[in-house]
Amino acid sequence: MTTSDPSALHGAVAVVPVRAGVLPSGAEEVVAEAGGYACVVGGGAEEAAHALHGAVTISWWDTPGFRPGTWAGVLAGACARFGQVLLPASADGRDLAPRIAARMGRPLLAEAIELGGDFVVLPRDGDRRTERVQLTGPAVLTIRPGTGGRAISRLPPRSITELELGTRTPHGHDAQTLEVTYPAPQSIDLAEARRVVTAGAGLLQPTQQARDDAAELVATMTRVAAALHAAVGGTRVVTDAEYLPESRQIGSAGVMVAPDLYVALGVSGATHHLAGTGDPRHLVAVNTDPSCPMMAAADLALVADAPAVLAALARHLGVADPEPDVSPRGDQP
Ligand SMILES: Cc1cc2nc3c(=O)[nH]c(=O)nc-3n(C[C@H](O)[C@H](O)[C@H](O)COP(=O)(O)OP(=O)(O)OC[C@H]3O[C@@H](n4cnc5c(N)ncnc54)[C@H](O)[C@@H]3O)c2cc1C
Repeated sequence: MTTSDPSALHGAVAVVPVRAGVLPSGAEEVVAEAGGYACVVGGGAEEAAHALHGAVTISWWDTPGFRPGTWAGVLAGACARFGQVLLPASADGRDLAPRIAARMGRPLLAEAIELGGDFVVLPRDGDRRTERVQLTGPAVLTIRPGTGGRAISRLPPRSITELELGTRTPHGHDAQTLEVTYPAPQSIDLAEARRVVTAGAGLLQPTQQARDDAAELVATMTRVAAALHAAVGGTRVVTDAEYLPESRQIGSAGVMVAPDLYVALGVSGATHHLAGTGDPRHLVAVNTDPSCPMMAAADLALVADAPAVLAALARHLGVADPEPDVSPRGDQP
């Protein structure tokens, strides 16, 4: 990547695609990396712009539906003066970014996990290794949620203005959204999840005796997570015991998450785990030990038995085990 105008590298803008006014995971990190310049685009963009933290200057373009081809054409022009165009590596961000890169004639650097002044670190070989890529010219980048490079400012933005772009006619054969379906809690991409329910050894004890109960607890937890539109995660103890797949492990050796809501059920909050939990706006911990690190970090710390709280949550959300009790004991007088 080379450019005849290296000064174009100065300045970056975050393009944040939204749906129904909801910001994607990682939006605020991308805005922080862009130095506070944000362009919020999509349905309910004005509402999302007002909910965005960490921005200095926000422009929003309220345009219904998801039309990545049309948006890319418009945004390529609107972002031309910025050296770097950053997007969150959310589903929509990953869809939009290559189209913007193509329209701008710039390289796309996808799923960056670290941004330096003049380099980015990208994952390679299915995350088995990383590569440091020198930035020598204008580029379009997507950034993985949970990277947490720069601190997110809590100051209100200086300006929030509408981009007067109107609704554009779809560009050529643009993508059309036919239906939006929610993935199952066990398959939601943890890194993108806005809500996460995590099991620790206090919920799923890795003992032979507790093994029989574990499948039932995982099923209940999955139903509770589905009712909350949350993803299911676990600590290393839980994934090592194979109660949840390794891909659901959260922490330094697992997935880095960046949710708004993190519910930790029987999780001690070891350093290796907390390294991957991001900075959730609402951290709820349930633990019998009031002084463990997870309880200390929590906004709401419940000193209680995790399986009992899970069962109460399931009842409250109307997702308790639907199977009636047909055990022989039920028939006895
Ligand atoms: C190199 C390395 C990398 C690692 N990477 C990771 C990683 O990526 N992710 C990760 O999670 N771990 C990782 N670990 C392991 C980590 O150090 C901890 O051992 C692990 O996170 C602890 O998991 P836990 O909280 O489920 O279990 P524990 O630490 O055993 O905690 C269980 C908690 O449950 C509570 N409890 C017990 N009974 C109940 C009950 N009935 N109701 C409510 N609470 C109860 C206890 O008070 C305790 O706080 C790593 C370790 C190393 C050495």
